[in-house]
Amino acid sequence: MGKILISGAAGFLGSHLANELLRKGKYVIGVDNLSTGQETNLKELRKQHNFTFLNFNICDKEILKIKELGDVTEIYHLASPASPKFYQAFSMDTIEVNTLGTKNLLDLAKKNGAKFLFTSTSEAYGDPEVHPQSEDYRGNVNTWGPRACYDESKRLGEVYCYEYFYKFNVQVKVVRIFNTYSAGLRNDDGRVISNFVLQALAGENITVYGDGSQTRSFCYVDDMIRGLQLTMKTEKANGQIINLGNPDEIAILELAEKIKKLTNSQSRIVFHSLPDDDPKVRRPNIDKAKDILGWNPLIDLEEGLKRTIQVYKTRL
Ligand code: UDP
Repeated sequence: MGKILISGAAGFLGSHLANELLRKGKYVIGVDNLSTGQETNLKELRKQHNFTFLNFNICDKEILKIKELGDVTEIYHLASPASPKFYQAFSMDTIEVNTLGTKNLLDLAKKNGAKFLFTSTSEAYGDPEVHPQSEDYRGNVNTWGPRACYDESKRLGEVYCYEYFYKFNVQVKVVRIFNTYSAGLRNDDGRVISNFVLQALAGENITVYGDGSQTRSFCYVDDMIRGLQLTMKTEKANGQIINLGNPDEIAILELAEKIKKLTNSQSRIVFHSLPDDDPKVRRPNIDKAKDILGWNPLIDLEEGLKRTIQVYKTRL
């Protein structure tokens, strides 16, 4: 049986994906340098006999010499800080992991003849002037701002994928992941759903940035994990960029009110200043995912939020 490598296995999506692949009886090697990934995410994974963990930085070229990786047949490259709070705090590491780290794993894929999936981001569209965003929209990214370390390095990661696909025939697939959530995020992640749910449950102020009119479209983690696996196994996805996300769009103020209601919270909604370059709208066009993968998100926001709130409640 082929071995599957997941970079960022101690992260939010990486650990969910690893769990799902192990549940299906696959052999998984997780690699992570635990910069933003967490040891707690590995707890269940480490109990499985068909899981191996490597505490390693994929930016180190020595990754190509690691014996256990000599026969991996599929590579899911998820390693990177993804929350604005963390990618801005670790901006240099973010740039490196999405460029050098991507190149090293592409070299590994080339060496092994392995399939390769790169998780890019909706941030590749920046503060979009076209709405909703389809894959052929080239984006409106500010190179001179606090989000550039993430946005531009993911874009350069995509460029590496393009080159390895056309020059070296590596079976590359790129997905642009839109906002994804569940209770698996770390409590200090700083992204909107974990912030609002934790604030609402603790009876603290719910912090809306700006006037809350900016929009996002939120995808529940199970749908995303299914989309990633489908992309990996679909041959027609080779050499393609595919949006994965839930097109159901909501304004951030409305999201705050929804979470307040679902948690029966007495919290007050308060307004803080809007961070620089915060995109005003975001919604994926997922026609390509529907067409190539037959993928569609199944869990709506209300259901996903209920599940998320339930887990956070038991944890608190
Ligand atoms: N946001 C907010 N309050 C928070 C955290 C985030 O109003 O406590 C806003 C943020 O300004 C953005 C949206 O929620 O407009 C989504 O932010 P997040 O950090 O989750 O992800 P982004 O889509 O910006 O990468």
